[in-house]
Amino acid sequence: MLAQTRPPGVADADPGSVLLPGHDVPLGRYTTVRRLLPQRPRRMVGAWCFVDHFGPDDVAQRPGMEVPPHPHTGLQTVTWLLDGEIIHRDSLGSVQAIRPGQLNVMTSGRGIAHSERSPAVHPPVMHGVQLWVALPDPARAGAADFAHHADLPRWRDGELDVTLLVGELAGERSPAVVHTPLMGAQLELGGTAPTTLPLRPDFEYALLAMNGSAEAAGVGFEPGARLLLLGGTPFDEPLVMWWNFVGRSHEEVAEAREDWMAGRRFGVVADDPAPPLPAPALPTTRLKARDRTGDLHG
Ligand code: MN
Repeated sequence: MLAQTRPPGVADADPGSVLLPGHDVPLGRYTTVRRLLPQRPRRMVGAWCFVDHFGPDDVAQRPGMEVPPHPHTGLQTVTWLLDGEIIHRDSLGSVQAIRPGQLNVMTSGRGIAHSERSPAVHPPVMHGVQLWVALPDPARAGAADFAHHADLPRWRDGELDVTLLVGELAGERSPAVVHTPLMGAQLELGGTAPTTLPLRPDFEYALLAMNGSAEAAGVGFEPGARLLLLGGTPFDEPLVMWWNFVGRSHEEVAEAREDWMAGRRFGVVADDPAPPLPAPALPTTRLKARDRTGDLHG
């Protein structure tokens, strides 16, 4: 993933960028994801605070994704598939299949629980991204919500096919509800002709190659490359991110953990075959807030 290092607002400075290669992290029993955010030296791009890219994986003889019920606070999860199928279940009672070209957006507010599983009979390949968006006040203390978007804005611009997942681009607007100035789009390159996208000078951006190969620093992506463009205005509040919780302080996250383990706040994911995932133990030192560049606060 390529992320801008230039602080927005410094329009005439060198628009430098940093390559964030990511690292493998196991998720559930059967899936390994490539974690692209948070990283040092870049923890966020806009309010995008977590970027996991999984696959393409051959799951023909395997269960696919198996993530049992677990809680979230202070964030939205945004799920986008290139291949495969996942059933989302949550404590609001939502049961929703997601397939390529569709978007799931779950808003935790103060608390929600969900599970994500491939159906028993599933496509042979699993490939997608799961993204988190940090919620600002007051949305992070608000109600939980789940939305499935099967009909997203799509258009062709020369050799570029664009699907808009979140926010606005080129006069189009996604139906997905977000709470800070934010955008996300899939870009599919059908050729080598130069392409220009109308980006916002007050946004910071990152570009993630999902398949095909890409050259860094804004030059020549190969035909067939499928890219994810993420952007937003810088998120100024330092965050405490621990396990599945996004908060502002150690105490807040510790309380969320305690509530989950005691069966409070988050509700129950109906019809999931597995017991809720227990939270790991808190570290013995205090959790500290970090800003978008990784600097410690408090
Ligand atoms: Mn989750």
